Amino acid sequence: MSGAAREPREAVFGPGERVAVLVPAPLDGPLDYRVPEGMVLAPGAIVEVGLGRRGVIGAVWGPGTAAMADDRVKPVRRVLEVPPLGAPLRRFVARAAEYTLTPPGQMLQLALRVPDLANPPQGRIVYRLAPAGLPPGLRVTEARQRALDTLAGAPEGLTAAAIAETAGASPAVLRAMVAAGALSAAREHRETPYPALFGQAAGQHLSGPQEAAASTLRAAVASGGFATLLIRGVTGSGKTEVYLEAVAEAIAQGRQALVLVPEVALTPAFLARVEARFGARPAAWHHGVGQAERRRLWMATAAGEVPLVVGARSALFLPFRRLGLIVVDEEHDGSYKQEDGVLYHARDMAVLRAAEEGALAVLASATPSLESWANAEAGKYRRIDLPERFGPAAMPEIRLVDLRGDAPPRDAWLSERLALAIDRRIAAGEQALLFLNRRGYAPLTLCRNCGHRFACPDCDVAMVTHRLRGRLVCHQCGRTAPLPRACPACGRDDRLSECGPGVERIAEEAARRFPGARLSVLSSDHVTGPQEMRARLEEIAEGRVDLIVGTQIVAKGHNFPRLTLVGVVDADLGLHGGDLRAAERTFQLISQVAGRAGRAEKPGTALIQTANPDHPVMRAILSGEAEAFWAAEAEARLAAGAPPYGRMAGVILSGPQEGPVWEVARALGRGRGMLERAGIELYGPAPAPLARLRGRFRVRLLAKAPKGAPLQAALKAWRAQVKVPGAVRLTIDIDPQSF
Ligand code: ADP
Ligand code: ZN
Repeated sequence: MSGAAREPREAVFGPGERVAVLVPAPLDGPLDYRVPEGMVLAPGAIVEVGLGRRGVIGAVWGPGTAAMADDRVKPVRRVLEVPPLGAPLRRFVARAAEYTLTPPGQMLQLALRVPDLANPPQGRIVYRLAPAGLPPGLRVTEARQRALDTLAGAPEGLTAAAIAETAGASPAVLRAMVAAGALSAAREHRETPYPALFGQAAGQHLSGPQEAAASTLRAAVASGGFATLLIRGVTGSGKTEVYLEAVAEAIAQGRQALVLVPEVALTPAFLARVEARFGARPAAWHHGVGQAERRRLWMATAAGEVPLVVGARSALFLPFRRLGLIVVDEEHDGSYKQEDGVLYHARDMAVLRAAEEGALAVLASATPSLESWANAEAGKYRRIDLPERFGPAAMPEIRLVDLRGDAPPRDAWLSERLALAIDRRIAAGEQALLFLNRRGYAPLTLCRNCGHRFACPDCDVAMVTHRLRGRLVCHQCGRTAPLPRACPACGRDDRLSECGPGVERIAEEAARRFPGARLSVLSSDHVTGPQEMRARLEEIAEGRVDLIVGTQIVAKGHNFPRLTLVGVVDADLGLHGGDLRAAERTFQLISQVAGRAGRAEKPGTALIQTANPDHPVMRAILSGEAEAFWAAEAEARLAAGAPPYGRMAGVILSGPQEGPVWEVARALGRGRGMLERAGIELYGPAPAPLARLRGRFRVRLLAKAPKGAPLQAALKAWRAQVKVPGAVRLTIDIDPQSF
């Protein structure tokens, strides 16, 4: 019942025929090549072909189509010894390219990003008995007989070293028998196989609601077709336990499963939890995985041998042979949007891949994206709710602290009420967490004498003071500078002022305010790798920490059983800036952080500091009425024709010189008639939200289309009207995250 088995067999291409090969170049489609004598190519075969003077690796995409004289068509140089890409993966690549307006060859590169594809590591020579049996008249010496006996018991083959050890036959004896046709010898690169996972291993005993959700999922997997399911479960409801049941079912059906998690959540703790469920460690795929393991995993997924991969978004492009399930955990998470190179949203691409594979897509979150919520409302996704926490744990009590009435003292950010609550928890031997989503010490430094601000020379942002690193840091490009002693503009050294807090400054305030408390600061500056993160989490779990001060790396996924109080230092941080998704993001982030409190027996509290207690987001967080919040948010988006009810594309032009960038932008603006005729509105050009980034000037146009308008096709034609010089880069971002 595998997905691959249902695919009709495709015809192969033989010598003299032409094939279309997709190559890693910014072209609209594949190029034609000739199949040389002695070569047979399956569709999806990975081949080396000539492109200009280079040799490149591409994939056979179908029959050749170009009307070109034979002598102008180059031959395929060679076929690589790796499994061909399956038809569902090829269709996925093509559709993803079309959707994101990416040249298909560049999209294919995401699937071929594996080390040593063209030059596989040298394997060992493996000897076997010749399949045709012993050649008549073979002279069988004693050494030869021992080698034959040994190999008769080893159909998988043996190396010369192994035969020498058990049979005492030398390599020379083996070579002579190969020459005589009695043995075969082949160079093989054999990887250690991935452990089989046992679908029915130690699953938890599920609660009633969990079991109901799990059986819906199991049935959906077992039915063997494409569908999308949204699990909305409050923090601590056991979403993970439930979707692992779907994974178990997929494995039991002989299909492969992929669980996508936000990169930061790919902790050893998460993998250990999956290991506990299945009795073996799942394969992991993320940017920290080494070259050899990448290659091994790629080959094994292609062979259909890996039952489960837990991975970051790029795992979506692995060549699974029998994919039956894709889970997107924390599906609302912003890190699923790839913002460099090929711009894609892993949640949307997961649904697309599942559709092509005939697999089930499961999106899980405590705070679903408005997109997924709306898709469930519209009946496109089936929705399952887990409204209660598992076991005795109750949802945390949420209270707002109105910063206008309870203002912290000068150069402090903790209100009296929050500080007292922390005091009480620490005195009771419990843990508290202070959350501020900002790295460093202070986001802005200025001179009170002349007004000079310390800004990044390459980006349109202020440099952030990092005391831990002893540097000013640009959070956009990473450039650093020494901490200033005096103002470079006016020379005064007594009027520099650090404005606002980052986590380091909150930690400093906490150390002052709670002198006896054992502090742990968790931000990407303080925690440099997974080992360190594991050690820090362990320390917290064992109760060797009283107060955690952290950025968003503490907001997701972790269970802190001793934590009973969460303080959100500045809930308004993400609300400003005119971004249409600001409310949604703030709601998600604060709900997630608040959800860290009270996950075990002791009830938890979240205190949320805000200067806008009447804001709809704060009211929704306070009341816990997520459904009402989504409905209100949906209404506002609908009225604005914004996603998910309308579609958007951001068009960014950038370059080192401002003039040419604006010239192209204005020319594109003048061509808007072509979009308007397709029912698409174009706004701008205007300076982009980050008008300078890494030394490049950025200008933006925004296209807004009603659902159903041919957005991609129209943008493609519109873009083609204007010649973009080499010094200007044009990037189209379909479904931009901020608008
Ligand atoms: P969520 O992903 O919804 O936040 P988790 O799956 O992480 O929830 O579950 C929260 C905690 O409750 C975890 O420590 C988990 O091991 C535990 N838990 C959930 N369901 C069960 C169950 N049926 N039996 C035992 N422990 C459970
Ligand atoms: Zn910068």
